[in-house]
Amino acid sequence: MIRTRFAPSPTGFLHIGGVRTALFSWAYARKHGGTFVLRIEDTDLERSTPESVQAILDGMHWVGLDYDEGPFYQTQRFDRYKEVIQQLLASGHAYLCYCSKEELDAMRAEQEARGEKPRYDRRWRPEDGKTLPTPPADVPPVVRFKTPLSGSVAWDDAVKGRIEFQNEELDDLIIARPDGSPTYNFCVVVDDWDMNITHVIRGDDHVNNTPRQINILKALGAPLPVYGHLPMILNEDGHKMSKRRDAVSVVDYEGKGILPEALLNYLARLGWGHGDEEFFNMDQFVEWFSLEAVSPSASRFNQEKFLWLNAQHIKAADNARLAELITPRLTAAGISTAQGPALAEVVALVKERVQELNALARECDYFYQPRQPQQAELDKHILPDTRERMARFAAQLAALPEWNTEAIHGLFKPFCAEEGIKMGQLGMPLRVLVCGTTQTPSVDAVLALIGREQVLARLAG
Ligand code: GLU
Repeated sequence: MIRTRFAPSPTGFLHIGGVRTALFSWAYARKHGGTFVLRIEDTDLERSTPESVQAILDGMHWVGLDYDEGPFYQTQRFDRYKEVIQQLLASGHAYLCYCSKEELDAMRAEQEARGEKPRYDRRWRPEDGKTLPTPPADVPPVVRFKTPLSGSVAWDDAVKGRIEFQNEELDDLIIARPDGSPTYNFCVVVDDWDMNITHVIRGDDHVNNTPRQINILKALGAPLPVYGHLPMILNEDGHKMSKRRDAVSVVDYEGKGILPEALLNYLARLGWGHGDEEFFNMDQFVEWFSLEAVSPSASRFNQEKFLWLNAQHIKAADNARLAELITPRLTAAGISTAQGPALAEVVALVKERVQELNALARECDYFYQPRQPQQAELDKHILPDTRERMARFAAQLAALPEWNTEAIHGLFKPFCAEEGIKMGQLGMPLRVLVCGTTQTPSVDAVLALIGREQVLARLAG
């Protein structure tokens, strides 16, 4: 049974890189009929906040990545970690180290002075025939893991292929702090073991942690999961995405008017592909997904492609849902949709023209209240004889036996012929006077939706 997990640290917001990690873990579980677990890695008590936990839960809910188990919280599992620490001490895979901070600083300074890479010299590591110093009374010990002194740790990474580290390069990792609290790498190991995680799919910033985690798992006699390390997402300039420069938080995307399915679709395409497929839904993604097809190198976020994809998803989305999504945006802009055409119908008419929901909301405003036209548009389209001509057209609109797009359209040609004008000389002023802008879809459909009473009132006004 496949079991994957997403294990964010709640120290900020939900980063889109995190969403992609979650997406790939989720998809792998879904594809194999497995279980997807959410685990909140909140052991860093200073940096973890309840707001950030909430942001993760909200973000997961918004993108629609459903988890089968969790959220589990590491802070609720301290007793278990302490138990496993005792187990490792008892089996001789871990030991107490009484080095004070001053001693470690001095050790580091000496090593640096000798031009060596600073590392713990294992002075408290018990070995056959070695006499250990007497534990000082005033230094609470840390617990260190006894990393094998020779040999190597290797694994076949599901994304990056074979990766190998020499044990010599690895320190005797601290697994419990002086106050007894367990450290990050250790908690991950115990959790992955206890939660029977079969596939650890995570960002490649964790590649260096993996040999340490594998060594601890081996010492515990625990089965090793498959590891798959996903490459980073870079911004358009090829730099690591940063909070200052780039939209990295899921909330930023929601605020911009991105549809969650578009974000997932785009993130799926970043560093993974299925032929030329660009636009797809999550059912298709799950069907096609494989870790082998994930690119081992970093990919760049392309804003233009992303917005194009969002536009495709807006076109495909249900109009009533879009209407619901943009209602708060319209309300915030002071536009009430209580009177006038059904918003879903307006959405159907204008949605082809936009790439994000904020723009969609903006495009709907004049169906409920006309915009204030720009002076340049007035100067260009409202000439001295325009208002009288529009009054004549209004009379024909008023007399239409039926009010719909076709009926309104039917008036255009004969009216223009009668007046000796081109279509634009009717359409543009109509748009300016009724909508307050020339940037609208087909004017007959726009008028039909706005409704006869409103159109006539606006033309008269
Ligand atoms: N908590 C880690 C992070 O947010 C992820 C650890 C893991 O996936 O093993 O980067």
